[in-house]
Amino acid sequence: MNEHYKFVNHPLPYAYEAMEPYIDEKTMHLHHDKHLQTYIDNLNDTLSAYPRFQSWTLEQLIVNIPSLPEEIQIPVKNNGGGVYSHQLYFACLKNPGSGQPFGRLKESIEKELGGYESFKNAFTKAALSVFGSGYAWLVVKATGDLGILTTQNQDTPLALGMFPILNIDVWEHAYYLKHYNQRAAYIEDWFHVVNWEQANQNYLRCFRWET
Ligand code: MN
Repeated sequence: MNEHYKFVNHPLPYAYEAMEPYIDEKTMHLHHDKHLQTYIDNLNDTLSAYPRFQSWTLEQLIVNIPSLPEEIQIPVKNNGGGVYSHQLYFACLKNPGSGQPFGRLKESIEKELGGYESFKNAFTKAALSVFGSGYAWLVVKATGDLGILTTQNQDTPLALGMFPILNIDVWEHAYYLKHYNQRAAYIEDWFHVVNWEQANQNYLRCFRWET
């Protein structure tokens, strides 16, 4: 995630059909090759006239949105956020998934969120509560504690001073071809393909316990 302009759309680290039957091949194709690609193209277009920010990483850009020139704040929020959120989403998928949280993150979910079942219920509720398009997130808050929150559109917890560990995209484009309007069924399927090892890596990196 230390990349900067010109951002590129890396191939998925698995086949498009790898998440079947939970997330279908066609959705993965469109989601990665069309939706994410568009955010990348638009972010690059936005930064093309601003050489000053071309060495900034995605995280730097998002964290510092308020200090960017006013005319690129919203484009960076929407497109930079879109790139960041999708890269995290795709990185945290794996089939077969891990089933349960892993490592130090597992310990913290048990201590701070009442264990996996309690986390799963709260996270599902959050993901269902997103009105319109957005995400549910597992984050580390500024206090160092785990938290669950939702964001609209392509807003990210990074811009709110929190560190994302795991997210689920609940824009309709993430599930409509397979699950139609049944967001709850998509969320249930998504839990089968969560890459908890990756989520744990994200958690460790947040505290610099491991790089
Ligand atoms: Mn999406």
